Amino acid sequence: MIDPSLSGATSGAYHSVQVSVDVRLNVNESPLAPPGGFSERLGERLATLSLNRYPDRGAREVRAAIARREGRLPEEVFVANGSNEVLQTLFLAYGGPDRKVYLAQPTYGMYSQIAKTTRTAVVEGRRRENWRLDRGDIIEAGAEVVVICDPNNPTGLEELDGLSSIAAERPGSLFVVDRAYGDFAEGLEPWRGPNVVEVKTFSKAFGMAGLRLGYAIAEPEVVEVLYSVVLPYHLDSLKQQAALVALEMEAELSSVVGEVKRERDLLMDELDSLPVSYWRSSANFVLFSPRNRQARAVWSALVERSILVRDSSTWPGLDNTLRVTVGTPEENALFIKALREVLAG
Ligand code: PMP
Repeated sequence: MIDPSLSGATSGAYHSVQVSVDVRLNVNESPLAPPGGFSERLGERLATLSLNRYPDRGAREVRAAIARREGRLPEEVFVANGSNEVLQTLFLAYGGPDRKVYLAQPTYGMYSQIAKTTRTAVVEGRRRENWRLDRGDIIEAGAEVVVICDPNNPTGLEELDGLSSIAAERPGSLFVVDRAYGDFAEGLEPWRGPNVVEVKTFSKAFGMAGLRLGYAIAEPEVVEVLYSVVLPYHLDSLKQQAALVALEMEAELSSVVGEVKRERDLLMDELDSLPVSYWRSSANFVLFSPRNRQARAVWSALVERSILVRDSSTWPGLDNTLRVTVGTPEENALFIKALREVLAG
């Protein structure tokens, strides 16, 4: 029998529907796959692997390569299967029964879900003006783990500079700073300290969501704890090679970031001419709200036109909103055209 405390945890409340459409702008993927040379190089590496052997348990080469990118030490890097697994491992180690995590809605839904599956109590705050976190609220919550999603999903907004000093003020809490969309923002405030963990992903700026790679940057003591909790050999040999190839080809892979930012700004310009409100995004998606129509009806009408965006209207604090991922110029044009038709109808 399933533990009753888990009922509903995996019901899919936070998962986007998977329907077959021409234009998929629902889960904040990169619009472009890594360039051809990437798969070829990875294929060559695959041929050299001894697949009868377990992978390098400590993913040492990958951690060294990430450490070089980040200007940190390999012992300060933890790598996992997507940043979701990084978050889960953090919650397993630092959350759990009798512990609390602070998160402020609206934010990325997996934090609550992982809290549930790791039996961590959630102190759920609300964001304040312009959906920013409030220092006093965080302190008052007294939680062992504090999640800061910056830029925040699904609002696309950045936190104001100055918040990071809270980590030194609250040495007993672990501050998890999720930078999944950090590459699409300008000049984010750096967070450092013995109780700070920065979480990053290869899914967005590197365009590698299908390969499931993410990592954490933290002091060696924290990284050691994460390795003591995660399953042995969790990062398979092929994935380790994929990470190495990606880092070798970083300049080519992340050239998409500039394009996405330009397209995001154009998309927002287009939204200016439509009867919608939206929030100026520092990420690879835009949250918007139709002024005279129900978001759910707009979502369905877009699906009928073979365009899938995310219906965020049932998420906490997000009545009547939809979230659209920035796609290729063609995809964005199709989306805007369809949205214009739907809102006119
Ligand atoms: N953090 C945030 C804020 C996200 O939006 C996502 C995915 N959409 C993730 C983490 C997880 O990404 P992944 O597991 O693909 O690295």
